[in-house]
Amino acid sequence: MPFDSLSGLSKPFDVIIIGGGLAGLTSAIHLSKYSISVLLLEKNTYPKQKVCGEYVSNEVLPYLRSLDIDPFSLGAKKIDRFELSTSKNNIISSPLPLGGFGISRYKFDYAMAEKAKASGVKLVHEQVIDIHFHKEKFTIITKQKSVYMSSIVIGAYGKRSAIDVKLDRSFIRRKSPFLAVKTHVSGDFADNLVALHNFAGGYCGASKVEDNTINLCYITSFDSFKKYKSIDDFQEQVIFKNKHLKNIFEQTIPVFKTPLTISQISFAAKTPVEHHILMCGDTAGMIHPLCGNGMSMAIRSAQMVSKLIINYFNDEIKSRDELEKAYFREWNKEFKFRLHVGRFIARLFGYTNLAEVVLLLLKLFPVLLPKIIQLTHGKPMQAK
Ligand SMILES: Cc1cc2nc3c(=O)[nH]c(=O)nc-3n(C[C@H](O)[C@H](O)[C@H](O)COP(=O)(O)OP(=O)(O)OC[C@H]3O[C@@H](n4cnc5c(N)ncnc54)[C@H](O)[C@@H]3O)c2cc1C
Repeated sequence: MPFDSLSGLSKPFDVIIIGGGLAGLTSAIHLSKYSISVLLLEKNTYPKQKVCGEYVSNEVLPYLRSLDIDPFSLGAKKIDRFELSTSKNNIISSPLPLGGFGISRYKFDYAMAEKAKASGVKLVHEQVIDIHFHKEKFTIITKQKSVYMSSIVIGAYGKRSAIDVKLDRSFIRRKSPFLAVKTHVSGDFADNLVALHNFAGGYCGASKVEDNTINLCYITSFDSFKKYKSIDDFQEQVIFKNKHLKNIFEQTIPVFKTPLTISQISFAAKTPVEHHILMCGDTAGMIHPLCGNGMSMAIRSAQMVSKLIINYFNDEIKSRDELEKAYFREWNKEFKFRLHVGRFIARLFGYTNLAEVVLLLLKLFPVLLPKIIQLTHGKPMQAK
């Protein structure tokens, strides 16, 4: 392997990946299949529940299978129908052009982590607090006071982290005005349906995951939420004005004792390469989940970065500068437009009356809806 030995603290790795969500785990598995030594640093342990709608577009299936991951063997539900309602209760439904599957992050990330370990990835549960780049080498420092070194670093630590502050990334100075709530419930819900129901100031997704559980996950602006004294209060006063949501919430039984919440969500534009770190998944850019495709983007960007790193180590890419430019170019070509469309659609549904007009148009011209869905999704990914 290309990494010339470093004297010092711990044995250097070819690649260090910061963050073991779907982006980090995917690149770890991919790279390890090419005999590249990979250290994956993840601050949490698996399995763990995550705030996420847990609907994955089928575009990733051929690639996942090439990495020997089959979501259906983990119990994933096949989803091929889509439903959308406005905050005024108008509803439309459509087949999903490509379809997808429902699986909990609890199960999915855990299975990927097990696969990574079996593929030879060194998985260490530590939190990265600092990164230095000097003389073509990275030094990574963790909260647990370990020091690791590598020639390449992939940043796959999700939408927002203290590392972004340390790296002084420009998006971190902008407002992060959204929060999200997720719960799992049991009850009646079609296996093959993903529903996106809007309410004033946000939307809630509903779809099934393995074990017949229904995922209910909503995102709303902090400004809308802060007027209410609790999650229950907010749900009753705001969310239940959408009668489709009221039905789902009232006719199901919570599986979680309390819902999971996250805050400080932002969809501001980011840069896929910063301080020589190749950013991947949400760390490079996050799509509004109303367009439902962040996990596929995380997996796709992980494949993209892994292929380029392999070319770099094989000398097909001659320099770090060439590697960074190639990733920057490919990432923008694949995702920039999708992210714009995602932001535009989310903004559009933020305007109640405009959303009603859009829904009316979609009802009049039903061929439009699958076309819009296609704009926010990619084509099926190639195997490795
Ligand atoms: C409300 C909501 C609903 C969504 N619904 C959907 C959906 O239905 N379908 C879909 O496709 N996408 C959805 N998404 C988007 C999707 O969740 C993300 O795009 C996806 O999780 C990105 O994966 P990732 O690997 O980039 O980041 P993550 O999954 O967030 O993983 C990042 C990892 O890095 C770790 N980490 C963070 N900081 C450090 C550190 N300093 N050191 C070590 N480890 C660290 C974290 O613990 C975490 O495990 C939704 C998002 C939200 C907010």
